[in-house]
Amino acid sequence: MQVQEGIHRLTRGVVNFYLIEEGGKLVLVDAGAPGDWDLLVQTLATLGRRLGDLEAVLLTHAHADHIGVAERARTSAGAPVWVHQADAELAKGAKPAKNDGKARSYLLRVEFYRTLLSLARRGATRIVPVKEVSTFADGETLALPGRPRVVHAPGHTPGCAALLLEQRRVLLTGDVLATRNPLTGRVGPQVMPSGLNRDTPQALRSLAVLDGLPADVLLPGHGEPWTDGAAEAARLARAAGPS
Ligand SMILES: [Zn+2]
Repeated sequence: MQVQEGIHRLTRGVVNFYLIEEGGKLVLVDAGAPGDWDLLVQTLATLGRRLGDLEAVLLTHAHADHIGVAERARTSAGAPVWVHQADAELAKGAKPAKNDGKARSYLLRVEFYRTLLSLARRGATRIVPVKEVSTFADGETLALPGRPRVVHAPGHTPGCAALLLEQRRVLLTGDVLATRNPLTGRVGPQVMPSGLNRDTPQALRSLAVLDGLPADVLLPGHGEPWTDGAAEAARLARAAGPS
């Protein structure tokens, strides 16, 4: 599904990842769940592209539902996998520290089971480690299609980052900001639910980095695209608070 000229959204529900196309070259932003490999291959075929056209895989953070096919893309397409330095060990399979909310508090939500089932079916209940990662840091602009600039916004994970495509005024938010809550089903700009965050207060504070960003369209890891600008999304997410 094309969300903007040269930006394609890939999803089978619950989680989104994106292909950026520029001058015949491609960058994958996030890598879905392990079971999403055929979705990637089909999308490339539809675009008349091949795995070998993939220049890189950029990870917004190292969670199982975002790095699913990254290792497979690295080994079969030879595409390097990039992640913020603070999430590098997590991407390589290190055991994550405890989150600050309890899954138990979502047990009465239908959405919780829907998400769990959908991700389990696609093998995203545990991480597929990426054997070799390249790391980026806050503020870095990568010499890749779309010239993505790293906007570090920790909280959901320590290395959680959004990626700004300044020329297109597009911000790929990863799990810095979602527009649909995968555990409660609430729709609208918000930080991720506490049960999935390392540090929710920090995630809320990190929204400040979105305020001044030149982005009209936000493409989140969970939920529909947002078209009313980064500052307004951040304002609403702060107002929504933790969940
Ligand atoms: Zn996540």
